[in-house]
This record gives sequence, structure tokens and C-alpha cells, in this order.
Amino acid sequence: MSGPGDEPRYFELPGRYVELQREAADLAASVADIAARADEADQIDPELRERLRASGLARVTVPAEYGGRYPRVDSLAVTVVREQLAAQSAQLDSLFAMQGIGSFPVATAGPAELRARWLPAVAGLDAIAALALTEPQAGSDLKAIATTVTEAGGEIIVRGHKTFITNAGEADFYCVLGREDDGYSLVLVPADAPGLSTKGPHQIIAPHSLGDVLLDGARVPAGHRIGAPGTGFSTIFATLATFRVSVAGAAVGLAQAALTEAVRHTAAREQFGQPLARLGPVPALLATSWTEIEMARALTYRAAAAASIDPLASLHLSSLAKVGATEAAGRVVDRAVQVMGRFGLERGSKIERFYRAARPMRIYEGATEVIFDSLAKRLVKDVTG
Ligand SMILES: Cc1cc2nc3c(=O)[nH]c(=O)nc-3n(C[C@H](O)[C@H](O)[C@H](O)COP(=O)(O)OP(=O)(O)OC[C@H]3O[C@@H](n4cnc5c(N)ncnc54)[C@H](O)[C@@H]3O)c2cc1C
Repeated sequence: MSGPGDEPRYFELPGRYVELQREAADLAASVADIAARADEADQIDPELRERLRASGLARVTVPAEYGGRYPRVDSLAVTVVREQLAAQSAQLDSLFAMQGIGSFPVATAGPAELRARWLPAVAGLDAIAALALTEPQAGSDLKAIATTVTEAGGEIIVRGHKTFITNAGEADFYCVLGREDDGYSLVLVPADAPGLSTKGPHQIIAPHSLGDVLLDGARVPAGHRIGAPGTGFSTIFATLATFRVSVAGAAVGLAQAALTEAVRHTAAREQFGQPLARLGPVPALLATSWTEIEMARALTYRAAAAASIDPLASLHLSSLAKVGATEAAGRVVDRAVQVMGRFGLERGSKIERFYRAARPMRIYEGATEVIFDSLAKRLVKDVTG
């Protein structure tokens, strides 16, 4: 029996996130005219950057004390925004997300001077942020990095080679992970630091501002250290815990947009005297995608809501959402192309762009198999104690 006030409540986003969602959807709609151009570029599109800056949404990626929107970076807010942005443009999504991922180490562990210098500029999109972890010989296995950090005479010297770094060559600063003695440390290296140069861009399946950062004895003042020596990994872990679930948000948005394209096309095009959407297995392919997107979104919001309260305690949920949503997006874009036939293959079509944009999501910020490995360990521990 249910009495007054006991009506069943749907699981819904709280109101302030719904408003944010609308704001992000408006920004996404406002870049529709330049989305295809930006997503074919291996550099940041200046007009896209300006529209994101003018929207004020980059403020979601920085704490309020430094010009941000919310007291702390809120995983659910970042996720909700990315869902909308990725439905329109992969570059818009990346530009937004990297402001957070590249600056979070500073916000969470950086000294006051670095926070005051960089975070307001990141929030206003006057400075571009980047996080430099990956190296030619070390991707998933980050403990194998060879970059070194040494402190001498009030300076920090960084030597190494970082590769596949989003925004390399365009960022104003890099949060760089290196070995220091028998631990790992993070250092903020401004783009104009002596000894830092960049190379690129890399050409990949879905164009991206992506290059190498060469640290040939790059020198910065000792105050550019982010956190105490040896704490680099815990700061990176905190960064991943806050942002991993937002990749799931982006994957859900992209998948939804791909399904919409497929539905429009198959409802309009007739073969054998019927719309494709009613023909053979096509209805089941469309409905399967819809089902998978709804499941992915429900898990993503749940994980993001948990991460917005305690990112570290809910990392397993964020990991489940990241893997679930990015793998689902891969299947959804594949089905979309299939049901659209040759029209799904045409260079420059929206669906072809979504198809390519979905692929890297299953590799960056924890490849599916790497995440599965850690999830399985946790599962066994939870069950067997
Ligand atoms: C678009 C894009 C943007 C990126 N931006 C950045 C950035 O801004 N900063 C940065 O530092 N890096 C960035 N990267 C790099 C990214 O973090 C790495 O690609 C990722 O960590 C995987 O490393 P890898 O590519 O070297 O693959 P590898 O580590 O060589 O792994 C290859 C494959 O092996 C399997 N595998 C590896 N380890 C395991 C395991 N333990 N268990 C089971 N299977 C395993 C997985 O299938 C994996 O996909 C970016 C990459 C892309 C594609």
C-alpha cells in the first residue's frame, strides 16, 4: 500500500544537473555548424574553443575557489556535460574534459601559488591544460615509465619522452609524471619552460590534438612540484577516480546520437516496399542499441552520482560504467553503420564520424581489458574475502 507522499519515484537527475544538461545541450547545438570541421582537425579549432569559453561551461572542471562552478570538481556534473558535448563533437568533448583532467592534479595536490596561477585561467579557458603520463614504452603499465624527476639547487629537472598526449603543442602547461628516487612524482611544467619541446600531431582514426612532449632536462622552480615527492601515483589515482566515469557519459551521448542517425535514416529509406526500420532484423538491431544505451546511461548516472560523493570509494562503479558504456557505444555505432548500408560508410557523414570517434574510448583512460582485470580482482576479493 502506498499513501500520500509515497508515490513511486523515478530515478532522476537532481534539478541542478538537469539545468546543466540543458546548458550543455545548448552549447552542443550552437557548434553544429563547425563540429565536422573540428572533428577532422588535429589541432584545437579556435572558434570551437571560443564558443566553449563564452559558454562558461569550462568552469565546471575547476573548484569554485578558483573560478569554478562547484565547491569541488563534481563527477556527475562533468559526466552530464560530456554526454551532451560528445553527441555533437568529439573535439568539444575532449577540450572540455581535458581542462579538468589536466588541471585536477594541481587543484587537488598543487601548492597555493600554482593553483592561483593556473586554475582561474583553466576555468576561463585562457590556458589549456594537459596531463602527460604515457611514454613510448609505457602505456597501461605506467609504473614502467622512464621519465626522471630530480631536485637540485632549488630547481626541478625533468628528463623524458611523453607520447600520445592530448593537447601537446597547444597546452600552456603539462602535469608530468616521473620517477624520483624509488617513487613517482608529479611536476607542473609550463609549455615555455627551458628544455621542453613538443612534436606531432599523431594521426589517428579520429583526429585529435595529440602529440609528444620532449623533456630534455626541462627546468622549473622547486615550487612546481605537485604534492610531496613520491605521491604522484596517488594524485593520478584521484584524478582517474574523479574523471573515469565521465568517459562513460561521453560514450552514452555519442551512442545516442549515432542511434538517432540510424533511426532517421532507416525510417525514411524504403527497400522492398518498406522502411528499412521495419525490415528483417533491422528493428531488433535498433531496439538492441536503444536497450544497451538505456542500461549504459543508468549505470553511468549511478556511478557518477556515487563518484560525486566519494570518487575513490566508488572507483569500481566508475570502472564498470566506463567499460560498459564504451563497449556498448562500439556496438551501437557498428550496428548504426550496418543498418545504414553504404550511406553509413560515406566520408564526411555524421555516422562515419561517430563510428571513428567511438573507437579510442575503449583504449584511453584504462583499456577495457586492463579495467576488467582490476574489476575481476575486486570481485574475487569481495566474494571470497
Ligand atoms: C585519443 C587518445 C588520447 C590520449 N591522451 C592521453 C593523454 O592526454 N595523456 C596520456 O598520458 N596518455 C594519453 N593517451 C594514451 C593512453 O592513455 C594509452 O593509449 C593507454 O593508457 C593504453 O596504453 P597503450 O596504448 O600503450 O596500450 P598498451 O599498454 O600497449 O596495451 C595494449 C592492449 O593490451 C591489452 N592490455 C594491456 N595491459 C593489460 C593487462 N594488464 N591486462 C589485460 N590486457 C592488457 C589491452 O587490450 C590494451 O588495449 C591517449 C590515447 C588516445 C588514444
